Amino acid sequence: MTIAYLSLGSNVGNRRRHLLYAISRLRADVATKELQVASFYITEPVGGVVQDNFLNTAVRLDTKRSAESLLTFIHQIEQQQHRHRFIHWGPRTLDLDIIFYGDVQMQTETLTIPHPEAKNRRFVLTPIAELATDTESVSQQVQAWLAVTPDQTKIIKLV
Ligand code: ATP
Ligand code: CA
Ligand code: CA
Repeated sequence: MTIAYLSLGSNVGNRRRHLLYAISRLRADVATKELQVASFYITEPVGGVVQDNFLNTAVRLDTKRSAESLLTFIHQIEQQQHRHRFIHWGPRTLDLDIIFYGDVQMQTETLTIPHPEAKNRRFVLTPIAELATDTESVSQQVQAWLAVTPDQTKIIKLV
């Protein structure tokens, strides 16, 4: 079993429904032992493309899947939400990224872990910080990145 942290985002259609769908699919996976969900956040898009605000959250899951198998699975979940992509970093119904997978550091053609953009994204780091309190390596890394991240965009926590 490995503890993985995923970032979830949506900015098209019923954003909350898309995130809840992804969470229920991850929770129902036979390889998932335990899953915790962070608060939901309304966040401004980063990357310069003019588009609607995002709804973002993160999950922490204890999974039997390898990192590659987890990537294949999250791609399936995205496809089942009819994710459409027209522009890079543009609007999407659902985007799931693997941010941390245990203490693994890897870089292949399809998978870079930790996610290379996490340190530049407050909307990724803030929800993970809520969940990472019992994983010291992740918690320290996230706090260190939050302290120096150049991302100053506004994110609003929903209660
Ligand atoms: P960004 O990676 O900057 O967040 P994005 O999420 O919009 O951009 P996608 O089009 O969703 O990018 O993904 C492109 C590819 O990134 C995926 O097909 C996948 O193979 C690769 N990838 C590499 N590392 C990861 C990771 N840690 N989590 C998810 N996808 C990854
Ligand atoms: Ca992404
Ligand atoms: Ca992605």
